[in-house]
Amino acid sequence: MIAQMAEVIIIGAGIAGLAAASKLQSNGHDVIVLEARDRIGGRIWTDRSLGFPIDLGATWIHKMRGNPLTDLVYRFNLNTQITNYDKHWVYDSQGNLLEDEAQDRLEARLATVLKAVGKRRKQMARADADDMSLQDAVDAVIPAWGLSTQERQELNYAIATEIEHDYAADSTELSCYHWDEGGEFAGDDCLFPNGYDQIAVGLAAGLNIRLEHVVQTVEYDTTGVRVGCDRGSFQANYAVITLPLGVLKRGSVVFSPVLPARKQSAIQRLGMGLLNPVVLRFPSVFWEQEAELLGYIAANKGEWAEFYNFQRVTGQPVLVGFNASRYARQLETWTDDQILAAVMTVLRTLYGSSIPEPDAWKIARWEADPFAVGSYSFIAKDASDKNYKTLAQPVINRLFFAGEATSRPYAATVHGALLSGWREADRIENLD
Ligand SMILES: Cc1cc2nc3c(=O)[nH]c(=O)nc-3n(C[C@H](O)[C@H](O)[C@H](O)COP(=O)(O)OP(=O)(O)OC[C@H]3O[C@@H](n4cnc5c(N)ncnc54)[C@H](O)[C@@H]3O)c2cc1C
Repeated sequence: MIAQMAEVIIIGAGIAGLAAASKLQSNGHDVIVLEARDRIGGRIWTDRSLGFPIDLGATWIHKMRGNPLTDLVYRFNLNTQITNYDKHWVYDSQGNLLEDEAQDRLEARLATVLKAVGKRRKQMARADADDMSLQDAVDAVIPAWGLSTQERQELNYAIATEIEHDYAADSTELSCYHWDEGGEFAGDDCLFPNGYDQIAVGLAAGLNIRLEHVVQTVEYDTTGVRVGCDRGSFQANYAVITLPLGVLKRGSVVFSPVLPARKQSAIQRLGMGLLNPVVLRFPSVFWEQEAELLGYIAANKGEWAEFYNFQRVTGQPVLVGFNASRYARQLETWTDDQILAAVMTVLRTLYGSSIPEPDAWKIARWEADPFAVGSYSFIAKDASDKNYKTLAQPVINRLFFAGEATSRPYAATVHGALLSGWREADRIENLD
């Protein structure tokens, strides 16, 4: 079959691919974007099947000041809503509301633990010791404090909500040395009441995007690149690969020749995390209307630790529960009915047995998704920042790599993916 030709092929129409494609095309290059799904956006996924927009993937712009996404918000004239998670209520495992002072104590305890872990990390570095997991480091410092069961549950809650949900990783998976490397912008976070996918739609305008084209092979040499899809093959001078880390780990796209050993090692070492939202619409609101966030200190770490009140965003009685890593992975094997039964047991503990059942719901399962295989990357034990940089390196100036897991210091975010796409477009632009 005759291959279709382009100057640059972009694999993946997530934010990194769209950013690279739009920049290259506006600089006069002939670009084709190949996307496996029947939609653009990748891990930006706005669902509208419940009659209102709700994001099942990326949800917030994290820190708007200096963030390139904020420029796109203005460029595409999008509506955003600032969030304020100081307005949060926290319940213990019996359903008792924590007083403000108890919440302050809980946050202070996490800060103290992390300070002690930081000290230990320095000692380890001085002794040139091997990496350990963040949880192993926590376990090594807390016995001295003799925490009660309740205090231990509170600490687990703080670790789950402040760390595991952010990094989409269990504290037993995160690198003690490097888990918190990375940067952020300043200012508030915000949501998109009309859907995050408007960013993807804005960037995609005028691009040649081939949906439902599942890339299977990438052959390359010093003369160019040939990409094999289930719908024929494509040939180009260069390819920008924006495949998620989970897809690269799984090896479902075959590179020929194989990728350099350093890159393969980086792919293996970095972690692909899991964070899954469960969207619940109820007939009416039974929780604190003014709360933006509800916390639950479960007996088992990280189970239904956070519910976001999305009534203000959607205009509907909607709660969104998030689970990360171990528990999220367990829930992915459950049916919707089993998941709903589990979440309702928790909500009844907090709000009583007379609360209504949800009348509609949406449950994301990002690890089961073959075109994501997880939610976003994290620095696993024995990995480091350097692995992100290795993943970003081009191969013989024919294959270029973009996507959140190539982005330093902004991995795991939409803005990181966006910047990585622009970075690789510039790299191709500046080739001799
Ligand atoms: C539940 C969840 C919540 C999140 N929350 C936030 C948040 O609030 N704020 C934030 O900044 N970030 C958040 N993120 C992270 C953010 O969504 C990602 O970092 C970002 O969208 C990744 O963009 P990308 O272009 O690198 O990858 P992707 O968006 O995954 O794009 C890669 C594309 O490649 C396609 N693809 C895969 N395999 C193939 C193949 N074989 N052939 C062709 N195409 C293929 C995929 O379908 C996809 O469209 C969240 C992610 C998840 C899952």
